[in-house]
Amino acid sequence: MNPFSSLMAPDAGGSERLFRKLMLQASLVGVVLHLAFASLFFLYDIAFMAAVNIVSVVVYLIVFVVIYRSLLEFSAWLMVALEILIHAALAVYLLGWDTGFHFYAMLIPPVTMISPLKEGLAKMPAVLLLTMVYVLMDYGLRTSAPVYLLPELVRDSLYYFNLVAVLFVMVFLTGLYYRLVVTNEQKLKQLATTDSLTGLHNRRSLQRLAERELDNHRRNGLPLAVMLCDLDNFKRINDLFGHQAGDQVLMHFSRLLKQQIRRGDLAARWGGEEFLLLLPAAPAQEAALVAERIRNELEAAAVSCGDKDIYVTATIGISELQPGDTLEHLVARADDALYQGKEAGRNRIVLPPSPLAEA
Ligand code: GH3
Ligand code: MG
Ligand code: MG
Repeated sequence: MNPFSSLMAPDAGGSERLFRKLMLQASLVGVVLHLAFASLFFLYDIAFMAAVNIVSVVVYLIVFVVIYRSLLEFSAWLMVALEILIHAALAVYLLGWDTGFHFYAMLIPPVTMISPLKEGLAKMPAVLLLTMVYVLMDYGLRTSAPVYLLPELVRDSLYYFNLVAVLFVMVFLTGLYYRLVVTNEQKLKQLATTDSLTGLHNRRSLQRLAERELDNHRRNGLPLAVMLCDLDNFKRINDLFGHQAGDQVLMHFSRLLKQQIRRGDLAARWGGEEFLLLLPAAPAQEAALVAERIRNELEAAAVSCGDKDIYVTATIGISELQPGDTLEHLVARADDALYQGKEAGRNRIVLPPSPLAEA
């Protein structure tokens, strides 16, 4: 049982996984960086700072193992935060503020904000405390004389190295979290616009895209057709073969639709076993050809569900854009045509009455 679990967010999902990955990478970088610093301080005979860096190497190795084994992530974060703070304070105290080791301490509050600590409750006090510690360190050590005097070149090199390293870490972190936001946004958009069973557009997504298409077609005076396809006696398929077999049939029909439509056409699951196709730049007669292909293909091939072959047909109602039409008008006319098809015996295509015949 993790004694810190009450401090951690219950399910941070992707951000928590990312933070874990980040801590693993950071601990490896920590090991390498502190080994390099330890060698440097051995070289300049500053044994104490060399020892501090060796302790840091050990801390980062422990952090790596802890995070790798998914244990006590909060304590790993705490170890890193304390290591950075104590190390930075010691380094600027012994070697001088001008070595720039305090920059590393500036990383802790932002990293705390992206840690799996509980939102609001634990984060804000932690960040306030860390900021206070940083300010105190600045106040107490910025102007104090260093214990060890490093050659100017070494001091300046350390300063710029530390400055660039911290800026790099900040840019890296920001980039990482920006990518997380963008990928999550894309995933959410995909979830919100797609029908999960068939992978086609859902009703809302098609409505949104159709409005754009209709605007275009109204402006350019191009034809546009809508096809409403409804599987025949689908309830019976569910009753006879089970709901799962019904789902397989829905997936089969969706694949068929995807194969038969052109680029730029839109296909959506409009309701349970009803599908809506929007064919830009197609008059009703052309849509009828596509519909006939779909109807034929569906009728010809059985859907195999386990050891059973299920034969299924569809009735398709077609409508064509008329001046002043909204999507609702278009779909309502396709629905009327579909109803006529069902009444006439199913497994057929019904076109709208031609405007001439209506007149
Ligand atoms: P008709 O030929 O007149 O269209 O008859 P029908 O049986 O196809 O139409 P009805 O509206 O009576 O039944 C549709 C059925 O579709 C009822 C519902 O349980 C089923 N259904 C709706 N969504 C799903 C789904 O996601 N999976 C499965 N397996 N069945 C579904
Ligand atoms: Mg049906
Ligand atoms: Mg139906």
